[in-house]
Amino acid sequence: MSLKSQIDAYLGADGRIAQAVDGYQVRQAQVEMAETVADIIEQDGSLLAEAGTGTGKTFSYLIPALLSGQKVIVSTATKTLQDQLLTKDIPLLMDVCGISGTARVLKGRENYLCPQRLEIAETAEQNTKEVWKKLNLIHDWQLKTRNGDKSELQALDENDPIWSKVCARMEFCQANECSGDDGCFYPGVKQQAQDAQILIVNHHLFCADLALREQGFGEVLPEADIYVFDEAHQLPDIAAQFLGFSVSRYQLDELVRDVRIAYKKEAPEASELADQASAVEDKVRVFNEALGKWEKRWTWEAFEASKASHKTLELLRNQLTQLIEVLKPLTDKGKLLSALYKRTQEFEKQIGSWLTASSENQIRWVESSQARFKLNLTPLSVADPFSRQRDALGGAWIFTSATLSVNHSFDYFAHRLGLGDAETRQWDSPFDYDKQAVIYHPIGLPDPKAPDYIKVCLRAAWPLLQESQGCAFLLFTSHRALQEAKVILSEHWTVPC
Ligand code: SF4
Repeated sequence: MSLKSQIDAYLGADGRIAQAVDGYQVRQAQVEMAETVADIIEQDGSLLAEAGTGTGKTFSYLIPALLSGQKVIVSTATKTLQDQLLTKDIPLLMDVCGISGTARVLKGRENYLCPQRLEIAETAEQNTKEVWKKLNLIHDWQLKTRNGDKSELQALDENDPIWSKVCARMEFCQANECSGDDGCFYPGVKQQAQDAQILIVNHHLFCADLALREQGFGEVLPEADIYVFDEAHQLPDIAAQFLGFSVSRYQLDELVRDVRIAYKKEAPEASELADQASAVEDKVRVFNEALGKWEKRWTWEAFEASKASHKTLELLRNQLTQLIEVLKPLTDKGKLLSALYKRTQEFEKQIGSWLTASSENQIRWVESSQARFKLNLTPLSVADPFSRQRDALGGAWIFTSATLSVNHSFDYFAHRLGLGDAETRQWDSPFDYDKQAVIYHPIGLPDPKAPDYIKVCLRAAWPLLQESQGCAFLLFTSHRALQEAKVILSEHWTVPC
């Protein structure tokens, strides 16, 4: 029995979902999309599926994928959709459809605790009382957690800078030096990902994996038979970030800080190491000053024309080379120094590549402001590496979103990812936007960075909140903005929702 012929038994008017879910209504577009995905899975093909809001896309790809019994990777752009898939859609479908299997989320390494870095942070001398409090919190949690995933650690703000000192980010990992009983969480988490039938990741992790494979440095994700990209319209830009690179002042400041820690812990006699850390710190500062204190984006041409910027970046690179020379004979003194040697080499190499890149397919650009800069190298097109990896991995590839086409053509999206051979289908939203929606665009809002921006936005939205008697969905671009709005609304909104 083909996969396609099974769809009606699940999504049809008398199907299993209709029997299990009150108020279920058959949506023709959802059924058609599920049947198309089923065909694509059986052909190991590629599909670009644009389905308007309200089509029920997730069921359309999950049902045939689950029924196939094959290994699936679902990649999304947002955490909200990941949560919806893991806690709602997949359990419901498994339950209703009687399909057994496991689904897991795998996040980037920076989301998991590195017990070794926690230990190092706990031995740092300069910890303040506040830092100690947070380290103790993490330490207590470490004894209870199974996966070391920071999202479980509700007591710590998700943006707290302390996490960057204890997370399992690749550039700080010294796996060779860690023994098996060090309590590292990451291998276990990766194994769970390997064993799951459905693995949910975000586009950032998928693209990081793609970049590693492309550079021949291994992989993070297991291979699958079916790859689904929901919210796929964001994929080309994210892929471009990962197939390029960036070096920021923040990373270089962290390097200096870690060199100082390593000097004290592992080679206190090597005073030239402390001198080198100060020299790099100084060159970083001088380069930042040369870029100026105003927030600015530089093209390569503008950067090249600025003699001071160019010269001071060269000096910074030379200073990193000197640091490498000093670190090299010290690598057998300890794990920290050995890892720093590799990290410094990587930064020096990236800055060198950035200064000398000549490919027409790469754009070099800089973001800068007072005490902050980031050198970026972004490929113009990721079509070649993306299609190369798609060919190498094989299987079925499904890209879906409410917005993939331009004037009913998928050419732009397909061209960006090298998907010229993919089938394309489009389903309109079941909503009647002309009757059910209005667009309201208030004029005269201040700059989003203005201190009273949220207050003014809420004032502009106030008539709508009143009209809907509070039944409104307000979407913010940051948690901070959301919290600010919550405080204002709780002071002024008196109508019960
Ligand atoms: S293997 Fe890497 S991430 Fe795990 S504890 Fe060791 S250093 Fe940390």
